Amino acid sequence: MKEQDIIELDGSQGEGGGQVLRTALTLAMITGRPFRIEHIRAKRSKPGLLRQHLTAVQAAAAVSSAQVDGAAVGSQTLRFAPGPIRGGDYRLAIGTAGSCTLVLQTVLPALWFADAPSTVTVSGGTHNKAAPPADFLIRAWQPLVRRMGAKLDITLRRHGFYPAGGGEVVASTEPCGLQAITLIDRGERQALKAEALVAAVPGSVARRELERAGAQLACLGGRVRELPAGEGPGNALLIEVAHAQVTELFTSFGERGVSAEAVADHAARQARLYLESGAAVGEYLADQLLLPLALAGGGAFTTVSASSHLLTNIAVIEKFLPVEIAASAQADGRWLVEIG
Ligand code: ATP
Repeated sequence: MKEQDIIELDGSQGEGGGQVLRTALTLAMITGRPFRIEHIRAKRSKPGLLRQHLTAVQAAAAVSSAQVDGAAVGSQTLRFAPGPIRGGDYRLAIGTAGSCTLVLQTVLPALWFADAPSTVTVSGGTHNKAAPPADFLIRAWQPLVRRMGAKLDITLRRHGFYPAGGGEVVASTEPCGLQAITLIDRGERQALKAEALVAAVPGSVARRELERAGAQLACLGGRVRELPAGEGPGNALLIEVAHAQVTELFTSFGERGVSAEAVADHAARQARLYLESGAAVGEYLADQLLLPLALAGGGAFTTVSASSHLLTNIAVIEKFLPVEIAASAQADGRWLVEIG
């Protein structure tokens, strides 16, 4: 590969977090284009590769027989030159509570372009702040990428909360083509329900969260899920908002020093903002749908805002793929994202 074919990336651009790297890894594998990135996660308090990002690099290297320089914890530069994508049975251990779902989202789209079916098992954190919980991947992201044509089945085998980790998620997938989808309106409401997860945390915490969330959101159904103590300690409140076209999931995590009521308020506020916005897709799902839609070569959706993750991901995707992605504010307050 000639040096001039290398895509140069600045990891401090825009959001300046791990997503710049993960999107680059996925698209490098799929396009066969090598890249070099500097200033990895420059805008985070601990810049450079953490275990989660390193595992994503190692996973991508295994899937595409890549040549990699700079793959070490703390590294702020990386060069990645992919080979052909091979399907197979991949097992990855993050070794900390780093997010399994972000590692999965890095390699799954590449495996849609592999030569054979794959199974990917990732151990580490499954319910982390600032990352999609496994439930989000399964209930919100997976149904939409399946609608685009992806053959994908994600299972949460064992919960792993920050900081203990120890969770496991497994995904099976196979080569497939992707079609564009359009999500302008969310369709009729089908469900509004909350689930309070507790592992080695008293059930009363979960009941208080459900009571408070129920007081904030009319018609909210709720249930407590007591997980085996060995999967904890951990607590999360998940609020699912299902409409005919899209299911959204809003999450808030219990933390030492934060009341159950504050945890509930945080999740309920996100759900209420989404419900009031009339948008099809919430803030997080928006930045996570971009890459599959760009691979499909088109599509559109409405969302609540133009987050910095969304705008940064657009810029990285446009470096690798011949697509144009526009995000424009609409008169009704929603944002329209068009990929073409
Ligand atoms: P860092 O920012 O420390 O590098 P990171 O590697 O976790 O961390 P980011 O670039 O911040 O990466 O990306 C985080 C991803 O997690 C984004 O795609 C965002 O949409 C998603 N995300 C964050 N919180 C949630 C949540 N509560 N539900 C669903 N997705 C979430």
